[in-house]
Amino acid sequence: MTVYLNGEFMPLEEARIPVLDRGFIFGDGVYEVIPVYSRHVFRLPEHLKRLQNSLDAVRIANPHSDAEWTRLIGQIIARNAPEDQGVYLQVTRGVAKRDHAFPKGVAPTVFVMSNPLVTPPSAQVTSGVTAITASDYRWLRCDIKSVALLANCLLRQLAVDAGAAETVLIRDGFVTECSASNVFLVKDGVLLAPPKNHLMLPGITYDVVLELAAAHGLPHEVREVTELELRAVDELMLTSSTKEVLAITSLDGRPVGSGRPGPVFAKLHRLYQEYKQTVMRQPALA
Ligand code: PMP
Repeated sequence: MTVYLNGEFMPLEEARIPVLDRGFIFGDGVYEVIPVYSRHVFRLPEHLKRLQNSLDAVRIANPHSDAEWTRLIGQIIARNAPEDQGVYLQVTRGVAKRDHAFPKGVAPTVFVMSNPLVTPPSAQVTSGVTAITASDYRWLRCDIKSVALLANCLLRQLAVDAGAAETVLIRDGFVTECSASNVFLVKDGVLLAPPKNHLMLPGITYDVVLELAAAHGLPHEVREVTELELRAVDELMLTSSTKEVLAITSLDGRPVGSGRPGPVFAKLHRLYQEYKQTVMRQPALA
């Protein structure tokens, strides 16, 4: 695997960062994960916009223009073998003597790698996955795609410990998102999405799903959803760049609706796959 670190391409095994990197010491950095299908980058402008928003929120100057990022991502894709990749990029505040306050005159650390993109196996698509719920005890800036993911890791591990795929998070009686994905609900044929705010990551896949719902006349509402509503839904699903759209068919050990992926999921999953095909018909970056 070839990675990029601060201006150079190298094998992953050779990439090294100093231990005083603030990403290591403080989790002081932001990241993106961008899916690549048949060497076509999915929604690159949207990912670069979200990266800019995260950098602005943590007050790190963007080390690259969009054109430079585009070239860099194209190079990483070209230098790695898989046709389908998950490009991971990370920017930290850089290397400095340990002190909480921002260092002056320090260049950010830029790291880009690519992993083979593994989308859900067809058994998960046809049967759905199980999830549990937990109290969302993360900080109040979940809209920032920060590398400081300790709470997300702890919450995700709760799912693993319970033999489930995801943890649906509830804050003050309202559904926010999952430990590493967004969540959608369906009640009486209406797709419900928690609103984008500081309590959730604005998912790129979340936006695609809402666009598809609007374009195809699927009734949908973006509004706060209570835990009581969550317990009485007909369908539940999660979205993320790597999981795409997946039905949650069991929640806290109880079946969701019929216990099978429902018709709204089936439609959105099909529309999402069709949308991916349109992306792959456009010119590739690499
Ligand atoms: N919420 C959280 C907490 C996430 O970590 C992610 C991405 N892994 C998402 C939502 C989904 O975002 P995207 O659709 O851009 O992958």
